[in-house]
Amino acid sequence: MSRLALVRDPRFLNHITPDAHPESPQRLAAIDTAFVKAALDNSVKQLEPRSAMEDEIALVHKASYIEQLQDDTKRASGGSLVQLDADTFMSGATFDIAKLAAGAGLTAIDAIKSGEHDSVFVAVRPPGHHALIDKPMGFCLFNNIAVSARYAQLSGYKKVMIIDWDVHHGNGTQWAFYDDPSVFFISFQQYPFWPYDSGWYTEDGSGEGRGYNMNIPLPKGTGDRGYLSAFDQLVKPVCREFQPDLIMISAGYDAHQDDPLGQQNITTSGYAMLTQRVRDLSFMTGAPAVVFLEGGYNTRSLSDSAIATMRVLNARDEGETGAVHASYLMPAAAGISEHVTGDRNPALVDERIREVRQHFGKFWPTLR
Ligand SMILES: [Zn+2]
Repeated sequence: MSRLALVRDPRFLNHITPDAHPESPQRLAAIDTAFVKAALDNSVKQLEPRSAMEDEIALVHKASYIEQLQDDTKRASGGSLVQLDADTFMSGATFDIAKLAAGAGLTAIDAIKSGEHDSVFVAVRPPGHHALIDKPMGFCLFNNIAVSARYAQLSGYKKVMIIDWDVHHGNGTQWAFYDDPSVFFISFQQYPFWPYDSGWYTEDGSGEGRGYNMNIPLPKGTGDRGYLSAFDQLVKPVCREFQPDLIMISAGYDAHQDDPLGQQNITTSGYAMLTQRVRDLSFMTGAPAVVFLEGGYNTRSLSDSAIATMRVLNARDEGETGAVHASYLMPAAAGISEHVTGDRNPALVDERIREVRQHFGKFWPTLR
């Protein structure tokens, strides 16, 4: 069985944002270059995405919103950009490219379903996790991962776990599934941080969905130690108890220590280790993993970290995974500890993890 597939398409570069906007076409160009440089093109199958149909996007978004965006993109033709909110823009090609970005996830689900692949990396822009059902937000137009989760459920993956490690809260995804116990949403974020009106752990779901929305708010300066510790103490046990049919990752790389927007302290090696945790969950539950690109605005750390994720997912065995980790470690750190970076305030990180654990113990016996 071939392991990892990559969904990519040069058309994603055609969504234009203003000069100096952090969410630039160069982000994906850098990942493409790094992919070839890492020789992953020899072993990773590349899949061309299809466009999502409007009724598929409407699994999550309001039909009136889809129509509104179509009208907005027309106003952008002729080279001018249309501004949708403080930092979200459309160029003439954007509506079609956003449909392609949503469709890339559907291509990934089909690839998993065929049994040919057990993991897929979906390298798209515009990103999706801030998009609300009726509103664009924070560079996002359609919520790519949410649309794919609904499509996956129709394809037979009834229980979906979405893990969002972007530095920002995945508010759009949270609200899309807030009352739904069939989609367990877990989001790590720098807190307090943009968007300032969501992301605290008491937002735990509503109605039947209570307990199926877990926010892990981490203080500024949290590094590999804090993220991995939160993953091991919170995500792993609830995943074992929930037993998802499919694991989806909103993989932003803007919690990297070199990112210009976030103030977290994850290293490239840290992303490799987080990905290994995802592989472990996949192995434990038998659920395949689909990884969606979200943020990440230093093209170097973004592309290095995205490639680290792909290399771990594509590794044949533990030895190969170990070699992937070692290749990102400084010589002095290799073999000493897997925690490349600590936390600026480890006591506060540990306290926060304890609070989340205690709060969710009400819903998940494994956390008591
Ligand atoms: Zn982000």
